[in-house]
Amino acid sequence: MPAKKRDYYEVLGVDKNGTKEQIAEAYRKSALKYHPDRNPNDKEAEEKFKEATEAYEVLTDSEKREQYDQFGHLGPEAGLSGFGFDFDINDAFRVFRRDFGGLDNIFELFMNNSRRGGRGTGFDIFGDMSGRGRTRPLSGEDIKYQFNITLEDAVEGMTTELDIPRLEICPECKGSRTEPGSEAITCPVCDGSGQQKQVRQMGFTQFISVTTCGKCHGEGRIIKDPCKECDGEGRVRKVNKISIKIPPGVDSGAHLRIRNKGHDGFNNGPPGNLYVVILVSEHEFFERRNNDIFCEIPITFTQATLGARIKAPTLKGSANMKIPSGTQTNTIFRLKGKGVPDIEGGGNGDQYIKVIIKTPKKVTKRMRSLLNELEKEEKAVGLKDRILKKLRK
Ligand SMILES: [Zn+2]
Ligand SMILES: [Zn+2]
Repeated sequence: MPAKKRDYYEVLGVDKNGTKEQIAEAYRKSALKYHPDRNPNDKEAEEKFKEATEAYEVLTDSEKREQYDQFGHLGPEAGLSGFGFDFDINDAFRVFRRDFGGLDNIFELFMNNSRRGGRGTGFDIFGDMSGRGRTRPLSGEDIKYQFNITLEDAVEGMTTELDIPRLEICPECKGSRTEPGSEAITCPVCDGSGQQKQVRQMGFTQFISVTTCGKCHGEGRIIKDPCKECDGEGRVRKVNKISIKIPPGVDSGAHLRIRNKGHDGFNNGPPGNLYVVILVSEHEFFERRNNDIFCEIPITFTQATLGARIKAPTLKGSANMKIPSGTQTNTIFRLKGKGVPDIEGGGNGDQYIKVIIKTPKKVTKRMRSLLNELEKEEKAVGLKDRILKKLRK
């Protein structure tokens, strides 16, 4: 059973009456954030990208949208063609490329958008998207890479090599995206401006909107003969071995920045950065809270009553620990300095051990007779009465 699908409008964060443009804009934002090329190895981002693309695909198709508005997520078993039941990540990539070109293209759209601060009319928004724009240096996108480590590794620190998938300038076309020997032509639809002006008459009012040219996706040129090596993307996927050093004491959520190891830029723009996001896996026995470590150790009733010396497990081997006589269950002991080293060199945290007195569920014959003896002795000294008296106070 597929997981329950979220409402398409909710996925994109647009109103039920949202226009196609609003839907496309919302999708663009979402795709820019969650595109797997920007978040390799991040299943959650991939899922979000797929979900948003699927919503976009349905809501920008008038017929499908109408059907969706009426029936919602209905399966083919309802006699209707269901949406997205086998929509997978490859479909998402296909839709994305069909409508937005490459990631670099959408990225550029956004850079222009945010740099210009959305001032005033639609004329300004894509004002920079002329053919000239393509030759400006464009920095590569950052890569966020999630890396899981054990608590032991987090405590010790480690040096390791990661295989980072990244986009590198295509060695064949050097990023021009055209097959070597051929040249791109000026877009006949927008005449190289990358924009399309639309005039709509509503009553007495004339609305003029400027949108990115649908033919060339704002590029101003059309590549007739895309580079075969990179499929016209200008960049190719490569896997780089990157060695990273994780400092002792690192905690979940830490971002390690490795400069210039993100995706390659265009037109001599610098590469983005690589961010390795550390996720420390849960430990079966120890729980970390800041730099302190918590755990529970079971002891027997006799150990608690008579006192004992036990070996307590720590993150680095075991430590000798004294259980004093008369220890109650849930008592917490502290082992100073046995916690996690401070990442900034501020010394170690502590380890806290809670002892739990385990009552035996099975006893041998001899144990039973000894316990019977013990019970008699308790009665003789009035132990029960003393405990009860204490409770009443
Ligand atoms: Zn190429
Ligand atoms: Zn055009």
